[in-house]
Amino acid sequence: MTDAAPRPVKSEQLQATDEIVEVAPGVLRTQLPANITGLGHVNMYVMEDERGVAVVDPGLPTKESWTALTERLSRIGVPMKRVHSVIVTHSHPDHYGGAARLRAESGADIITHRLFRTFYDPTEPPDVDAEELALMMRSPFDAPPWGGPAMDVPWQRRVRLAVGRKFPKLMRVPTPSVRLNETDRMKFARRDWMAVHTPGHTHDHLCLFDPETGTLLSGDHVLPTITPHISGLTAHGDPLTLFFDSLDKIGNFANQISIALPAHGTPFDNVGGRVQAIKEHHFERLQKLRDTSADLSRPASVMEFATHLFSPRAQGAMADSEAFAHLEHLRILGDFERRDNSGVFEYVLKD
Ligand SMILES: [Zn+2]
Ligand SMILES: [Zn+2]
Repeated sequence: MTDAAPRPVKSEQLQATDEIVEVAPGVLRTQLPANITGLGHVNMYVMEDERGVAVVDPGLPTKESWTALTERLSRIGVPMKRVHSVIVTHSHPDHYGGAARLRAESGADIITHRLFRTFYDPTEPPDVDAEELALMMRSPFDAPPWGGPAMDVPWQRRVRLAVGRKFPKLMRVPTPSVRLNETDRMKFARRDWMAVHTPGHTHDHLCLFDPETGTLLSGDHVLPTITPHISGLTAHGDPLTLFFDSLDKIGNFANQISIALPAHGTPFDNVGGRVQAIKEHHFERLQKLRDTSADLSRPASVMEFATHLFSPRAQGAMADSEAFAHLEHLRILGDFERRDNSGVFEYVLKD
């Protein structure tokens, strides 16, 4: 126990308010309720132009979120049919949840990165090979590749997942009508936005940048105070390297970014400083793994390393998955060795 001072609340964790604030020219920030691990809301940005509005990340597929969404739009004074575009930054339900319904009611385009694909989606994104697809189709209740326990998924959720995979329409899974490639441009809020592919948090993560006003829609890639989850359950051997590269990609033009509009938490400037801080957070975790292995001086499982990286409250499948991503990064760097102990991966620092 240290002192009794309460932990400062992070802006990503705050409950959604019904505030509507112009955060960049022609771009309004609204908040939709989302009580999921570590989060209290999703920012839905609304960008106005002569055709109507484009919205970014229309929240969870819940009734509560939809009610808030329609309330925000009506207070802005936009009838549903004036929504011409729905931009979804990546394939997590708190970002795509309202997209299919918005399209059904307004005929809006659904705009994503080219590789966008949800867990339920029966369609394949273009240019994905069979192995990649097999991993993208992983069921969360399969045993993870590192030999740990399968995620503890309650039966109700298992049924939902199984039904959802058979009938994705029931899950309100959106089908993108526009899939963007790197540097593609689209007009929203009367100016050109450029697509920036930022894989790491998910492989299909998309940021949009408007060079005219220096506005970056940063999704979950760069958040104001928390770091996004980096999952080891991915087809890409080293998602952490992808994430670092995507952070550097943003860092390289951070001097042109005057404001970042994240999917959770308050908009922020000093994007370069934030990118550096997120990288340092992961460097510290990597060093912690090296130190732990040196202290143990024996091979240890992903689950054991995870207990050294995360607080007891944070233990579980997500912590294991993130520890796995970090250990694989160190193995690929050549710092660690991996052995297979009857189906359980064990890692040890090389001498
Ligand atoms: Zn996400
Ligand atoms: Zn999110």
